[in-house]
Amino acid sequence: MGGRGDNPRMKTIRLRPGKERSLLRRHPWVFQGSIAKGGGDVGETVRVESDEGRFLAWAAFSPQSQIRARAWSFDEAERIDADFFARRIQRALDLRRRLAPDSDGIRLVHGEADGLPGLIVDRYAGTLSVQFLAAGTERWKDVIADALLAATGLQRLYERSDSGVRGLEGLAPRSGWLRGSGETELTIREHGWQLTLDVAEGHKTGYYLDQRDNRALFADVVRQLGCKRVLNCYSYTGGFSVAALAGGASEVWSVDSSAPALARAQRHVELNAASLAFDPSAHRAVDADVNATLRNLLKEGRSFDAIVLDPPKFAPSAAHADRASRAYKDINRLAFKLLAPGGALLTFSCSGGIGAELFHKIVAGAGMDAEVDGYLLKRLEAAPDHPTTVSFPEGEYLKGLYILKTA
Ligand code: SAH
Repeated sequence: MGGRGDNPRMKTIRLRPGKERSLLRRHPWVFQGSIAKGGGDVGETVRVESDEGRFLAWAAFSPQSQIRARAWSFDEAERIDADFFARRIQRALDLRRRLAPDSDGIRLVHGEADGLPGLIVDRYAGTLSVQFLAAGTERWKDVIADALLAATGLQRLYERSDSGVRGLEGLAPRSGWLRGSGETELTIREHGWQLTLDVAEGHKTGYYLDQRDNRALFADVVRQLGCKRVLNCYSYTGGFSVAALAGGASEVWSVDSSAPALARAQRHVELNAASLAFDPSAHRAVDADVNATLRNLLKEGRSFDAIVLDPPKFAPSAAHADRASRAYKDINRLAFKLLAPGGALLTFSCSGGIGAELFHKIVAGAGMDAEVDGYLLKRLEAAPDHPTTVSFPEGEYLKGLYILKTA
């Protein structure tokens, strides 16, 4: 098994002068260019020292990644062993218990923010879906899997280590049952509605739990403002569409370029119609490109009382920010035009490369071009079971704006 804090042959990496500053601020990443000497095996625990030999952190080494080491602990007395992982997982679970989200779909471990860099754990009712994204988590996979089952009392853990970022760590994709077995088709309850997902096929770990609280907000907005015609762009499996129907909308369009996602969106509408007392025929699934659809809807002279724009990551990194900015501006401009006076827009970006301030500017530019103004009623972010920490601002990725078009 992987590195241990008491190993006398523990390997060390020595940083270049001045490169200790971010670790002293408890930022958990060590970049390749900061290292003067030393190394380790894939995922091995190494001691990280300043250029003067001062202890900085215990970290998982990743020989192929630009992020050459990720800190497990800043406490020299702490051993990185099975108990360490059990403690960190318990701490993450305790936070979620205190937050008590209104759902049995919940993010239990959110990587760096929970002191477990490269580990994502989502709970979908009685099943865990886990991404091991970095060399350190890969090395400790069995220990982590057992600790997760012990802490939750569950028996089923599906591995979804098929994210592209594993390639940056030199790790091959892998998915399948790691513990337990059975059906990969699951049902969760979110707020007042039911949703389904296939843990083997769905995006990320199966579903977008980060938007849970924004879906509840959307149901409230639709109800409060009496929105009737709703357009849900990049709908995936229709979470915001069900929210709109729950809020009393009478015509809801889900637009996505994935036919299987739309088929599931339609199923979600039918699944919830009786208990939420809405007419399932109010839903229309449109299998098409959003940008082209927005243009067509404008040409047809349609308008909507509420619009959601929740596109995929247009800018995976800051290097893509320019092209992504134009793409965000374009869809927001079209949405502003399609919105009826007084209508509500929930617009999002999940690009790490686009900060909240830049996103606001892009949307402001879109409003200018569309010649409409609006009240910025609320800034939106991921649900609190996807926390960011003070020490790791990079963790912030999802940002959104709730805007009311000026009447
Ligand atoms: N709002 C969703 C999550 C959206 S994820 C939720 O709450 O669950 C982004 C979605 O955008 C994916 O379903 C993907 O299929 C879709 N997508 C990506 N590019 C697209 C395009 N150009 N046109 C339409 N849909 C697109």
